[in-house]
Amino acid sequence: MTTFETLSVSPLMKALVRELGYEKMTPIQAESIPVLLEGRDLIGQSKTGSGKTAAFTIPILERIHIEQSATRDIQALILCPTRELCSQVTREVRKLGRKKIGLQVLEVAGGMPVFPQKKALESGVHVVVGTPGRVLDHLQRGTLNLSSVKFIVLDEADRMLDMGFEDDMKTVMNALPEQRQTIFFSATFPPNIIKLSSKFQKNAVMVKIAQTPEDQASLSTISQKFIVVKEEEQKPEAVFQLLANESPDSAIVFCNFKTTTFELTELLAAEGVSVACLNGDMEQRQRDLVMARFRNQSIRVLIATDVAARGIDIAGLDLVINFELPKMRENYTHRVGRTGRAGKDGKAVSFIRENEKSKVAGLIAQSGAVSHPPIAEYVKKTLPRYDLGSKMETIVILEGRKNKMRPGDVLGALTGEAGGLKGKDIGKIEVHDFHTFVAVSRDVAKVALRCLQSGRIKGRRVRVEWPK
Ligand code: AMP
Repeated sequence: MTTFETLSVSPLMKALVRELGYEKMTPIQAESIPVLLEGRDLIGQSKTGSGKTAAFTIPILERIHIEQSATRDIQALILCPTRELCSQVTREVRKLGRKKIGLQVLEVAGGMPVFPQKKALESGVHVVVGTPGRVLDHLQRGTLNLSSVKFIVLDEADRMLDMGFEDDMKTVMNALPEQRQTIFFSATFPPNIIKLSSKFQKNAVMVKIAQTPEDQASLSTISQKFIVVKEEEQKPEAVFQLLANESPDSAIVFCNFKTTTFELTELLAAEGVSVACLNGDMEQRQRDLVMARFRNQSIRVLIATDVAARGIDIAGLDLVINFELPKMRENYTHRVGRTGRAGKDGKAVSFIRENEKSKVAGLIAQSGAVSHPPIAEYVKKTLPRYDLGSKMETIVILEGRKNKMRPGDVLGALTGEAGGLKGKDIGKIEVHDFHTFVAVSRDVAKVALRCLQSGRIKGRRVRVEWPK
């Protein structure tokens, strides 16, 4: 039992962690936080969902000085491979830093407009969370000054190398002061990571928590099934049947190819399923929107590739479907591990061909069951009436944190005397820098839209629209 109380961190941080309901440290936190508080370099092995963000954020926030930095120099830089991970990490840093009054955290990710980032950088921030390409871009434009950085984190370092960020990362690292703490987190330790570590880290402590019994236990609460299909063409129908039978509130279907994600999305949408695809070909803005709608239950089923889904932390997925087995074995665990988080039971179903049975023989023997899909006609006749539409719909308000928009303002405009809607009809309200996503029950969505269009928020008219 390692509680946060045992750490030598400030009473404020301990209070915050209690507020957040974190009872004990995760293994990566228990191993890393004390080392990082000592100021040592660290290279840690862990993946999304292990609590790694807090593992590096807590020690960094403990040693960032707000009062001394009247000019607000950048003290910590966190590099992440994708924009999704950037915004996830930014949210976590803001959450853990909310008792540090005056802390400024900025997301500097690619795929976003440059100018607002430049303005925010000019006004001064303490922590920058960014993708290597965009950070380098600002560095070269002279809009980013890294000379005061004391902490540098490479999050999912292996993935950044995979994505071809090596040169960008190196250039950024070389622009940092010699005196600093260098922290690497990576899911795997291939030779190029070790080389990067020896080049940029000093006496780094290595923390490996790869396959702890806890990891396996978390997978063991997941029921893993395999369905053998004769023809590739049977799969879309089989996916639909499965969804209709299980009626999950949120599910992800993993595919190996982008083209498959598009096709399958179209087929399921035609059957009335609330579905969207997520792949690397889509524009960033579009991906953000899909993710927000999935998180707030406006979309029930996401059809994704591994690359697009990596680094996304969605709590409480009811079902993961493997449209086909992943090409890389380790991705099976990544995919399946997304259901059954936080002690909940999860369910994973993989479609396989007869000749793939041997590939998963171990899993089948361990925990899985094999079956064949029910015959389509039979299912169609006997299935109860299914409703795979979404429970919620999303409304986009074209103002956000930078316009001082807060969830309470939106809630106020929709409920009470002003809006007339009931609290239970309003779902998640997600405030981003320049826009806000509001989830409302499908039945009242039109009313809610009209209410926001014709009413006022914080005494002002705001632009409101359906997602495009
Ligand atoms: P990460 O691996 O950093 O993506 O974190 C996964 C999730 O676990 C995040 O939503 C965190 O807020 C949450 N989390 C981090 N540390 C703890 C903890 N010690 N106890 C419970 N939840 C945690």
